[in-house]
Amino acid sequence: MSLTLYVDGDRWRAHLRSVLEHQPLLVPVAKGNGYGFGNGRLARRAQWLGVDTIAVGTYDEVADVADRFHGDILVLTPWRPFSPVVDNPRVIHTVGRLEDLTALASSGRRSRVVLERMTSMARHGFTARGLRDAGKLVSTSSTTGRTSSTTGGVVVEGAALHLPLAKGSHLSEVERLMTDIVAAGLDKLDHPDKLDQRKGSTIWVSHLSNQELTALSARYPDFTFRPRIGTGLWLGDRDALSVKATVLDVHPVERGDVFGYRGRSAPRNGTILVVSGGTAHGIGLEAPTGEASIRARAASLARGGLDAAGFVRSPYTVGGKQRLFAEPPHMQASMLFLPSGSDVPAVGDEIDVRVRYTATDVDRVEISQPRPR
Ligand SMILES: *Cc1c(COP(=O)(O)O)cnc(C)c1O
Repeated sequence: MSLTLYVDGDRWRAHLRSVLEHQPLLVPVAKGNGYGFGNGRLARRAQWLGVDTIAVGTYDEVADVADRFHGDILVLTPWRPFSPVVDNPRVIHTVGRLEDLTALASSGRRSRVVLERMTSMARHGFTARGLRDAGKLVSTSSTTGRTSSTTGGVVVEGAALHLPLAKGSHLSEVERLMTDIVAAGLDKLDHPDKLDQRKGSTIWVSHLSNQELTALSARYPDFTFRPRIGTGLWLGDRDALSVKATVLDVHPVERGDVFGYRGRSAPRNGTILVVSGGTAHGIGLEAPTGEASIRARAASLARGGLDAAGFVRSPYTVGGKQRLFAEPPHMQASMLFLPSGSDVPAVGDEIDVRVRYTATDVDRVEISQPRPR
């Protein structure tokens, strides 16, 4: 009855292990729809992988992972004074404005923070100058007499760079930003937890290739680069994953028969297929054919094409062909039109759906158990 994500468990787990093998300091990202799996499942998987830190997108997502993953939880959305209060010593905040750093430092808690330097993404983070000011603040305003990296409640756990998806190499941009990080003196801060040498000079990065990370580690031996990876980890081996919908109903129609919410009539003989998956799952939100293509539609109409009837391509495949929506997807089901002559699946059969994993909420995730060797 469901939209189901099927996972070849052996293959998926082997892929996860191999990503970790190449990037032992990996920080798995679990956010949003959990890349199709759900954040809770990813949190358990991160625990299984044995990493020490997971990243979530928002403060609201901390609760998705906190009971299932036992290490540190890095929140990627920068902290703001209006962020929900999370009183969890495992949480590491991302900070990108001086006023936020000051506010967190005076909150009375011993907040762990990562200072974000803005990249060419221009999303969040300090300017070069702002980062220097932040560096000064954390090194001079120590009120606790503890170590220089604590300002009341702030412990600096490194710097963060959120890089765009690579077109070319990121190296020259990262080198420029690293100059700012060095100038801000973040690597010089003593961490109260002296046993962990990595912390003050950790650079949390995204979207760097293994080669770029290797090159950076060689160039900046005093720093530790930790890649935050979501897509490449959870969805990196697409052939281990498939999404299937269930055929819920099958109605033969003749040309002129009326169907659907909009009382349309069938443009030819064929079959209306009702399948699981609709707007609630994130299925097929593309707009129907617009005015601009009226001429193309007229031509298609002359040939008796189905798109001329206003049918829009769906992500569902039947008999190896991508099929047309008979009308826009409903909340939990969709109606497809199969022209006569097509092989018609039976009620209960499963058919393939091509989805964007980061935009789809499936009803069920089925991960196959290890195969006996
Ligand atoms: C989402 C996100 C990532 C992970 O991105 P993927 O492309 O899924 O690997 C890393 N860093 C930040 C700040 C993010 O928001």
